[in-house]
Amino acid sequence: MRWYQRLHWKIIIGMVAGLFWGVLAAVFGWQEFTFNWISPWGQIFINLLKLIAVPLVLTSLIVGVASLSDIKKLSRMGGRTIGIYLLTTTFAVSIGLGVVNILNPGKAIPSELTQKLKKSYETTVASKSNKARQTSERRPLQPLVEMVPANIIESSSNNKNMLQVVVVAILFGIALIQIEAGRSKQMVELLDVANEVVLKVVDMAMILAPFGVFSLLANTIVSVAGDDISEISELVGGLGYYCITVILGLLVHSLIVFPFIIKFLTPMKLKTFFKGIAPAQLLAFSTSSSGATLPVTMERCEQNLGVEDEVTSFVLPLGSTVNMDGTSLYQAVAAVFIAQATGIDLSFADQLTIIFTAVLASVGTVGVPGAGIIMLLIVLEAVGVPSAGIALILGVDRILDMLRTVVNVTGDAAVCVLVAHQEGQLGKPDLDDEPHMRMKNNELA
Ligand code: ASP
Repeated sequence: MRWYQRLHWKIIIGMVAGLFWGVLAAVFGWQEFTFNWISPWGQIFINLLKLIAVPLVLTSLIVGVASLSDIKKLSRMGGRTIGIYLLTTTFAVSIGLGVVNILNPGKAIPSELTQKLKKSYETTVASKSNKARQTSERRPLQPLVEMVPANIIESSSNNKNMLQVVVVAILFGIALIQIEAGRSKQMVELLDVANEVVLKVVDMAMILAPFGVFSLLANTIVSVAGDDISEISELVGGLGYYCITVILGLLVHSLIVFPFIIKFLTPMKLKTFFKGIAPAQLLAFSTSSSGATLPVTMERCEQNLGVEDEVTSFVLPLGSTVNMDGTSLYQAVAAVFIAQATGIDLSFADQLTIIFTAVLASVGTVGVPGAGIIMLLIVLEAVGVPSAGIALILGVDRILDMLRTVVNVTGDAAVCVLVAHQEGQLGKPDLDDEPHMRMKNNELA
């Protein structure tokens, strides 16, 4: 297969072409054409991915749980997964704090820019603060209450309710284990076939991926640039140091924590891991949504990295909603940056509070574009930094959102491989990019 026929190269070519088109459109005034004729293709692609997410999680998780011969295994895997997720997120926040305290980007920002940004984003800040207030005013056990749905149709009708879908699938799977094996077998087989069908739809959606990312990136550039591309360069110039700090933190986390997990804690080669997960990373970058990327992350881990579906179907949907290494790292950097830019000194205790609240805030962040900045307000509030400060970073948030989502998705996949290895559910990787029949690991051995 030639290099440009490989999926990840096709997606990269689509991304570069989309960036190029977006800049040309902003310069030559083709915004209208781009919104009318190019953006809808990206929307169709995202819709397809979202459409697959609930059936994929439902079918693969029910089959996964039902084939675990005992329930103890499930609680062990659950405990492990949540423990590792919390640990990697805590590392991410600490790396973010380390980098921002060394580079001090908030001290470099000119005060005229601070005033200008605060003025231009006044209304956006007010609406985001409102959303964050609603979240923080909820009762302490509210997240737990919200995990248990009162109506299965309602919870499957919105991808934001993925945790509810996970709960329903686990309950269904456990119930299947408890009924007589001869009778449950047919149901499990039916769901297994349904799961395979859904995976085929993922393959079909991926044929559209290069065009989808082209259109998504063109649309992002045109929406961010508006009709004056010079504003972007002015903004990026002023906030460049802040962006570099976030990017550096994300790089440190991606080049130290993930390689450590894969190289030292699992038998997988680093190259295999990053090659296998690349299409999911590229999609995460283009869509800024771990939720929309979920079907591809699951497919890549299962079909290309050799993780058994009973692990992917549990670890990845959970990760796409609760494990956000990139988001938590960015929240730590942003909180300290805003404090520095507005002249607020943060004590050591404040920094510890940031670690604690950023871990919790990232758990509460849903995997959709821009969700991280809303939860950032909760971190700011915890350390007494004015929430109006997010006006400083709103302009460049979309760019950083794309990057942190890549780290979020990579973190989910790394933990998935680790848990699979610990559970003895990691088979041989198969990096063939062509859509193919799903092979069980015992068939590969
Ligand atoms: N866009 C991120 C995600 O979906 C969440 C965020 O940080 O805004 O993973």
